[in-house]
Amino acid sequence: MAAEHPMEVSYSAFYSPSPEAVRKGLQAWHAALAQFDKAAHMLEASGHPLKKGLIEFLRRPKRELIVNFPVQMDDGSIRMFTGYRVHHNAVRGPTKGGIRYHPDVTLEEVRALAMWMTWKCALVNIPYGGAKGGVAVDPAKLSPRELERLTRRYATEISLLMHPGGDVPAPDVGTNPQIMAWIMDTYSMHTGFTQPAVVTGKPLEIGGTLGRVEATGRGVMMVVAEALKLHKIPMEQATIAIQGFGNVGSYAALTAYQMGARVVAVSDVHGGIYNPEGLDIPRLMEHVRQHRTVRGFPEAEPITNMELLALKVDVLIPAALENQITAENAPNVQARILAEGANGPTTPEADEILIEKGVFIVPDILCNAGGVVASYFEWVQDLQSFFWTEEEINSRMERILRRAFYEVLAKEEELRRYGLKPGDYRTAAQALAIWRVAQATLIRGIYP
Ligand code: NAD
Repeated sequence: MAAEHPMEVSYSAFYSPSPEAVRKGLQAWHAALAQFDKAAHMLEASGHPLKKGLIEFLRRPKRELIVNFPVQMDDGSIRMFTGYRVHHNAVRGPTKGGIRYHPDVTLEEVRALAMWMTWKCALVNIPYGGAKGGVAVDPAKLSPRELERLTRRYATEISLLMHPGGDVPAPDVGTNPQIMAWIMDTYSMHTGFTQPAVVTGKPLEIGGTLGRVEATGRGVMMVVAEALKLHKIPMEQATIAIQGFGNVGSYAALTAYQMGARVVAVSDVHGGIYNPEGLDIPRLMEHVRQHRTVRGFPEAEPITNMELLALKVDVLIPAALENQITAENAPNVQARILAEGANGPTTPEADEILIEKGVFIVPDILCNAGGVVASYFEWVQDLQSFFWTEEEINSRMERILRRAFYEVLAKEEELRRYGLKPGDYRTAAQALAIWRVAQATLIRGIYP
């Protein structure tokens, strides 16, 4: 076992992510830090300096939990799994962030995702800090009963960090409303009464909110609609390519289709499909329900993920994982707008290249914030035991996302006067968010 791992990666012998997973996790964490440093530098340059100690505080996670736990498999054997829950910052409220089930989950990846959650919640100005969780597992390889046992045990292991007023998980890659239901039930069994507000993204029947399943993808398209307006591209003429066809990608595609745009290409982990005339998304979603992949969809030709990222389209939506657009493939990107449905899909090096090329980047913490906004609404409804209509949810969400979009544009314009590269909306968005968290920290004071 040990021979598989390079010596320079000093991982505990008890849990053993692949060297590739370790590399990807570190890459995401370094990207998050590089973005932070750039934004902190711009704050300083624009007359909003942060004290050194405050910068250190904001760069570091508040607490990190690693859990190694056993799960009984259907054949009677016992398998060990490793999971994580990281709270990056809790100054503005309870920590919020999804739970990921993926074989490549590492502490560093979860830490990066938790930090991005802090900035995302601050950017859209909802009263949350940032967190993230994950288990290194391929959920597709478990039976439904194994998945339930794993989820209940993981939820038990991290329950010392979870609380409706302290830390509220949600779905992410590889998890879904059923898994959130098991987490809610496990936590409720431990505390002796039903606690819907401890997790969001639940099924409607147990305190979920209307519109949550669609929220992230729908929110992506709400923001894309504003970006298209800015570029004077009518929605009906817009062409869109989407990498990843899970929760975020499929509902971004469906919303785009319903808005009248042409989704010409989509992909998943198995590869992509392309039809320049536009794909019939409701039929494609039915195909995916049956075949568990977009591949093989009639009236479309196969393409690779790399080809999809290089398509000449108006909007490219990466909605899969981190580090997809890198220094190697960024020069090939031909899209006018890059709308980051995924968290951290663009490396800092790729960012520089795309900004130089004039690609309009809608950064992740803005672009995919619809998910956490709807989660916030779910939590508020659960706490009040009073539920809203879908219309209320969507219109409130649109108001929040649109406000954040124009605040980012205004910040970019302001920071340009102090040396920000025109078009660096990521740094503008992070600067806004970091400033809000910094102010909240100073107002609260440093305990004791
Ligand atoms: P998901 O598990 O529902 O779907 C992931 C999709 O990506 C699947 O179609 C999978 O096949 C595909 N994929 C995986 N690896 C790939 C690869 N190497 N190349 C191409 N496709 C690949 O996950 P999701 O919830 O849709 O999350 C996707 C992204 O959006 C993640 O970055 C996640 O953190 C982010 N996000 C999710 C939410 C949410 O509410 N679910 C909210 C905000 C951000």
